[in-house]
Amino acid sequence: MINIILFGPPGAGKGTQSARLIEKYGLVHLSTGDVFRYNIKNQTELGVLAKSFIDKGQLVPDEVTNQMVKDFIARNNNDKGFIFDGYPRTIAQGENLDRVLEEYQANVTSMIALEVDEDELVIRLLERGKSSGRPDDQNEAIIRNRFKVYNDETSPLANFYAKKGKFVAVKGKGSIDEIFQNLCKAIDGVSQL
Ligand code: ADP
Repeated sequence: MINIILFGPPGAGKGTQSARLIEKYGLVHLSTGDVFRYNIKNQTELGVLAKSFIDKGQLVPDEVTNQMVKDFIARNNNDKGFIFDGYPRTIAQGENLDRVLEEYQANVTSMIALEVDEDELVIRLLERGKSSGRPDDQNEAIIRNRFKVYNDETSPLANFYAKKGKFVAVKGKGSIDEIFQNLCKAIDGVSQL
């Protein structure tokens, strides 16, 4: 099993690249943001709760997100593995992921981080907001708040995996194809270990 955490700030291109990576490597894609948006669209209890945080650019509470991920893994357990996109986003979530994968005698293979400058990201997100209809991409103050949450709560995860020797950084600037090639090289490198 290969379990890759695709890491990086909002707008780094995790969703776009995940879609291509799952095709190439036959992995299952778990985007916590997509699962929340699906629930918001269908007005489930989880969706109503998640929306109250997402619209402000805040994280959905760990207990809620962790339970959702545990259920998703149970339903989608497979031999090849997963790409985690947008999860974990806090140290508590990282610890939860380790515990859940352990139940399947599996672990995180590597965290691969897409590195992109913040100014470039704000431009990308506002552009995406025009076509995606995502309310959290249409307001610069909410976008800036998501970066603050990322810097305060999410970025420490890089060190959490680096300490385990499981952190690889990849240049997230360039064309979609170039970035995809960079990611494939990183995944091929860690999957041979
Ligand atoms: P982006 O990477 O552009 O921020 P996502 O689709 O990954 O987009 O996430 C959108 C929003 O969903 C986040 O700003 C956050 O409110 C919520 N969310 C997604 N994943 C998590 C998570 N692992 N923990 C808590 N909240 C999350």
